[in-house]
Amino acid sequence: MPDALPLDPPRPALSVVVPCYNEQEVLPEFHRRLGAVLSAQDLPWEVVYVNDGSRDATLGLMLDLAATDPRVAVVNLSRNFGKEIALTAGLDHARGNEGVVVIDADLQDPPEVIPELLAAWRRGFDVAYAQRSARHGEGWLKRATAAGFYRLMQRVGGRVALPPDTGDFRFMSRRALDALLQLREQHRFMKGLFAWVGFPAVAVPYARAPRAAGTTKWNWWKLWNLSLEGITSFTLGPLKLASYVGLAVAVLAGLYIVQLLVRTLVFGNEVAGYPSLMAVVLFMGGVQMMMLGIIGEYLGRIFNETKRRPLYIVERHLRSGMVPTERPL
Ligand code: UDP
Ligand code: MG
Repeated sequence: MPDALPLDPPRPALSVVVPCYNEQEVLPEFHRRLGAVLSAQDLPWEVVYVNDGSRDATLGLMLDLAATDPRVAVVNLSRNFGKEIALTAGLDHARGNEGVVVIDADLQDPPEVIPELLAAWRRGFDVAYAQRSARHGEGWLKRATAAGFYRLMQRVGGRVALPPDTGDFRFMSRRALDALLQLREQHRFMKGLFAWVGFPAVAVPYARAPRAAGTTKWNWWKLWNLSLEGITSFTLGPLKLASYVGLAVAVLAGLYIVQLLVRTLVFGNEVAGYPSLMAVVLFMGGVQMMMLGIIGEYLGRIFNETKRRPLYIVERHLRSGMVPTERPL
C-alpha cells in the first residue's frame, strides 16, 4: 500500500468500495445516485472504483469520473481477477477512517440503503449487512438454489453462521475491516470471511432490484464453483462425510460377505454371482473416485495457498483527492 506523504490529502471518514467488471452501461448512473445519497450525509467520503480487467469502456469512465470528482479513487487491476479479489483490492486501498461500504456497481444494491447502514453504525454496530427481503428479477430456480445453499452452509458452518440472503453489500467499521484485511487466503469466499471476523452486526432489510443494465457475470457453473469454494473454505465436513460413507460401505460389504460365506457353506457354491460381483466392484470404484475427488478439492486448495502469490496485481492506482464535503461538518 502507498505510504503516507506529508502532502497526503486528508483521509475521508467513509470509503465506498465498488468492484466493476464491464459496467460501462451503469457506471455513470451509479456514480450519480451514489453521490446524491452520500452528499446528504454529514461526513467526508470517497468512492474506490476497482476495474477488474473490464473489456469495455469501464476504465475510461472511471478515469473521467476521477478527473472531475476528487472523491473518486481508481484501482485498475492488471487483468480480471474475479469479484472476490477485486473487492479485496478495493478494501486494501480504502482510506476511510471510520469504515467502508461495499456495494455492487449494477444498482442491484440500491445506494439509497447506505444511510440506513450508516445509521446502524451510529447506533454502535461494527457491521451492518443489507439483507434482501425480495429477490426481483431472479428466477425461482436461482432463488431455490440460493436458499438451499444458505441452509446447507448454516448446517456445516459451525460457529461461523452465514446470515441468509446477504450479499457483499454492507457497512464495516474500520476495526472490522482491519480484521478482515488480515485474512489473505487465495480462496476467498467473502461472505464467509465477513462472518468469520465477527464483531457486533445487524441486518438491514431491503428489496433487491433487478440489474439496471448490462448482464450478470454469473452462470450456473460459476455459482456451483462459488458454493464449492464456500463449503471447502469453511468446513471439513465433506472429508468427514467421505469417512462415514466409506465406513458404511465397508460395514455393508462385511455383512454381505458373511451372508455369502454362510450361503456357500450351507448350500454349496454354484458359481453364479457375476452380476453381484460386478455391481459391488463398480459401486466401490465409484465411491472411491468420489472420495478421491473430495480429497482432491481440498488438496488443490492447499496447493494454491502454498504458492503464496499476491492476491492481485495493480496496474494503476489513483488516490482520491481533496475530499470536499457538501455541508460543513
Ligand atoms: N464483478 C467483478 N469481477 C468479476 C465479476 C463481477 O468485479 O469478475 C463485479 C460486477 O461488476 C458487479 C459485482 O461484481 O459490480 C457483482 O457482479 P454481478 O452483478 O455480475 O453479480 P450478481 O449480482 O449476479 O451476483
Ligand atoms: Mg448483480
